[in-house]
Amino acid sequence: SRPMRVSVQLHPYGRGRRLLLTRDITGIEQAEAMRRDFVANVSHEIRTPLTVLGGFIETLQTLPLGEEDRARYLALMSQQAQRMQTLVSDLLTLSRLEGSPPPRAAEWTPMATLMVQCEEDARALAAMQAKDLHIEFGPPPALEISGEPHELLSAMSNLVGNAVRYTLDGGSVHVQWRDLPDGRGEISVRDSGVGIAPEHISRLTERFYRVDRSRSRETGGTGLGLAIVKHVVQRHGAELRIDSTPGVGSTFAIVLPAGRLRPASATAGTNAR
Ligand code: ADP
Repeated sequence: SRPMRVSVQLHPYGRGRRLLLTRDITGIEQAEAMRRDFVANVSHEIRTPLTVLGGFIETLQTLPLGEEDRARYLALMSQQAQRMQTLVSDLLTLSRLEGSPPPRAAEWTPMATLMVQCEEDARALAAMQAKDLHIEFGPPPALEISGEPHELLSAMSNLVGNAVRYTLDGGSVHVQWRDLPDGRGEISVRDSGVGIAPEHISRLTERFYRVDRSRSRETGGTGLGLAIVKHVVQRHGAELRIDSTPGVGSTFAIVLPAGRLRPASATAGTNAR
């Protein structure tokens, strides 16, 4: 922890008198330090793929490469460009979430719709990463949820995406709905992945916080996923629960307040995309 910082000012008032004003600026300094850290992090995250891209371009310009090598270099370049695109897209999502008031006009979306689309995302990601995982979604509840459907889907897909990315070949990912006795509901994502040591858990939702930087990068991580989840969860009055054992697996769960849930109507569901 840092020491408290105080600003001291002498204000003249009356005849030759001075008023000593002190102000606690610890909070202001911390906010400023966090902003500086964030800008430094973003710059670093953008510079890395740019450097790699620059290197490839130079190689293509100077070396007489065969057709096959050329294709290989271009594929790697495209990967780096994709990485920057994901980063910028996550940054924009985060800034929208941080800068706008919580969604007011409640839109009701069937939980089944969200779960189906989330499952599609999970399977697509596993296929793209050529991972052999047992992915299982439990039956969706006959409930609708009120909120911003894009945000809710993005939060769920981020959790399921992490479960896929941090679980090794042959592992499993389970997504399940559970009614809680007090009317709340819980959607949980359980994986048999690498797990997280307890000392990291409280910091996971910080922007750019990663337990294993290289594993995050290799699997296309930006370090912003759980920060996005945290904001979406807060904006919907929900709660994020994390439970993990290193080497065994993790469970990330979103607990939704009763007020955002209602029985599913008979009418056709809306599409969250
Ligand atoms: P990233 O893009 O790095 O995955 P996130 O914000 O989504 O960023 O997650 C932050 C960090 O939390 C990850 O880098 C990883 O170390 C850890 N983490 C998140 N989900 C899991 C999981 N299901 N299993 C193990 N570690 C996880």
